[in-house]
Amino acid sequence: AIRLRDVQLTLGTGRSTVHVLKGIDLNVQRGESVGIVGPSGSGKSTLLMVLAGLERADKGLVEIAGTPLGGMSEDALASFRGRNVGIVFQSFHLIPNMTALENVAVPLELAGSADAFERAARELANVGLKDRASHYPGELSGGEQQRVAMARALAPEPAILIADEPTGNLDQETGRQVADLLFAEQARRQMTLVLVTHDPALAARCGRTIAVRTGVIHDDGHGSAAATVPAAGPAASPVGDAA
Ligand code: ATP
Ligand code: MG
Repeated sequence: AIRLRDVQLTLGTGRSTVHVLKGIDLNVQRGESVGIVGPSGSGKSTLLMVLAGLERADKGLVEIAGTPLGGMSEDALASFRGRNVGIVFQSFHLIPNMTALENVAVPLELAGSADAFERAARELANVGLKDRASHYPGELSGGEQQRVAMARALAPEPAILIADEPTGNLDQETGRQVADLLFAEQARRQMTLVLVTHDPALAARCGRTIAVRTGVIHDDGHGSAAATVPAAGPAASPVGDAA
């Protein structure tokens, strides 16, 4: 589960200072899928970075699986993140001079896995890329690169998967395939999934949709009913309201 309370964050320095998150309250239950939507610049990616422990909040509480991230040292946070959170980005973020297999295996190895390459090979096969293991990212299609990124994110068996516009750089059909894989793996591994998307069809596949507007949660509802649910009080109840 993920719990955020009055999370605030200002980014930049001097004239470029922006109060990006202005008091975010959010509960995500274990195994839930949440789609975050909202205009460009509203703070969606920043919110994901805070949820993932990649960016620290200036103020407020960020708790993952019952553990508050605020007081952790950088090393403790990095290791906690590695074990608990998988992340997929719009632009794949693969390391260009590593093969598909190495992209998946090296983070496992750095985290101390003794059988990193065997596990990486299994994860690549699982996303349908067994025969692309020795390809470099530049030798893969966009959809294939995103599947490598998925294998990399899934390999440590995280409880939480974070995805920032995972289909944003893909054509419609390839995007649908990547989304199919994402939701299938979420269900199979019983992960908590939080994704950001500009695609209403992808948002609609999530159990719940949250709308962000200039650094605040404008609407926290369930599926397509979201738009008609009155403004949520302090943190919407996790399940059962708004049919
Ligand atoms: P998009 O849909 O275009 O991806 P977003 O909702 O993900 O947008 P963010 O990337 O979270 O938006 O950015 C939110 C705001 O914070 C933007 O106005 C952006 O200019 C500002 N911002 C982000 N990073 C920084 C930074 N390092 N310094 C200053 N301002 C920043
Ligand atoms: Mg963004």
